[in-house]
Amino acid sequence: MVDAFKETNPKGINLKDVAKEKGIEYFLVSFVDLFGALRSKLVPTRAIEQMQNDGAGFAGFATWLNMTPAHPDLFGVPDPESLVQIPWQKEIGWLASDLYMDGKPVEASPRVALKNQLKRAEKMNLRMKTGVECEFFIINQSGTAIADTADEATKPCYDQLALMRRFPVIRKICDAMIELGWNPYQNDHEDANGQFEMNWDFDDALKTADRHVFFKYMVKALCENEGMRATFMPKPFSHLTGNGCHAHISLWDPSGEENLFLHGPNELGLSELAYDFLGGIMHNAEELCAFFNPTVNSYKRINAPRTSSGATWAPSSVTYSGNNRTHMIRVPGEGRFELRLMDGAANPYLLQASVLAAGLDGISNKRDPGKPHYIDMYEEGHTVEADKNLPKCLLDAIRLLDKSTILRKEMGDDLIDSFVFLKNQEWRDYATHLTEWERANTLDI
Ligand code: ADP
Ligand code: MG
Ligand code: MG
Ligand code: MG
Ligand code: MG
Repeated sequence: MVDAFKETNPKGINLKDVAKEKGIEYFLVSFVDLFGALRSKLVPTRAIEQMQNDGAGFAGFATWLNMTPAHPDLFGVPDPESLVQIPWQKEIGWLASDLYMDGKPVEASPRVALKNQLKRAEKMNLRMKTGVECEFFIINQSGTAIADTADEATKPCYDQLALMRRFPVIRKICDAMIELGWNPYQNDHEDANGQFEMNWDFDDALKTADRHVFFKYMVKALCENEGMRATFMPKPFSHLTGNGCHAHISLWDPSGEENLFLHGPNELGLSELAYDFLGGIMHNAEELCAFFNPTVNSYKRINAPRTSSGATWAPSSVTYSGNNRTHMIRVPGEGRFELRLMDGAANPYLLQASVLAAGLDGISNKRDPGKPHYIDMYEEGHTVEADKNLPKCLLDAIRLLDKSTILRKEMGDDLIDSFVFLKNQEWRDYATHLTEWERANTLDI
């Protein structure tokens, strides 16, 4: 085994033995690229030892990583602690892996980037725990409409009848999470027709990120098995509420026993450390959008006009509040806060890595989040002197990230340059497309 690989498998767990014990016949050795796409090699158990020693080989250029066809092979080294024995295909074990090239971790790859931030936090005796709420739509196979044609209520949130029409697939997903020990606790129909959310308990940030990756795969795969399709796209239908991916955040002591965000001397019940972290998020919010809202489509969810249900539930400016869902940051109770900016396209690892990078900047520089606002932002937002507004499109967001000295310093030029390069390429591709809107507004000019 290459020495550096020990970082991915510090306990020296032997997957061949694990496979024997659990009856696993194949492993999916996977990684997530910068755009959040899940890539894998399906490895028979007979070869898993070799994969642990040498890594599974990939050509970086063939994925969304900033590499050329001439780059040497990438190696995905599986993290045995991420193992998921797939509940509906028990003979398969899914593994998240860290990417290496020339024996060194690839700094511009998402899981490595998150681990780098977690190491920085560890040096400050901090441990981040997070929970994510991954909203999704169940749509028809061609992706043109929601799958359930009877799901038409104007206010469909928590609609029991529409929820129960999907009981067979929701139950499969929830049962899988129970079996995997994620502690799921509720499932509901969300605010858009055809939209659902399933919640499980928060945990260490890396664990949550790995689960987030697997959750998206699981929802898509199990919906496909039922002849439907699931999407986490930020705004698949312009008149309906989009897919958010709220993240709940808290920092703990190294043992993971003590929540350091608790016990503040203030009305929101947040500690000084939490305020500093919050200050870091507020301070860097516009620059974080490139990670939180990483697609062209993301900007149709934030800054959006009211949806048919009455609210978008997505923020437009950089404000925070108590238990009030119209702000970018909500403090639902003591000891944590909720970031409501992220959408379903956010890369599960870069989401967490950039939250931590901005939060640690807040702690190191004692960033002041300013005062909370106790107003309905959708009705009274115009009365707030927000010194910051969120970017209006992906290009704005990429430029802000590119220019961010703080995120560059905290996350490294390698990662930021790669992300910005690929996203600029994506923007240019998008910009070459002619839209119906242009024709409607320009034909007669
Ligand atoms: P809501 O819809 O009210 O925003 P959900 O119940 O859908 O909330 O999701 C809340 C998420 O926050 C869950 O994943 C939960 O485990 C997580 N959470 C709760 N407490 C904390 C905490 N202290 N730190 C991080 N995440 C937390
Ligand atoms: Mg080949
Ligand atoms: Mg929720
Ligand atoms: Mg929700
Ligand atoms: Mg929420």
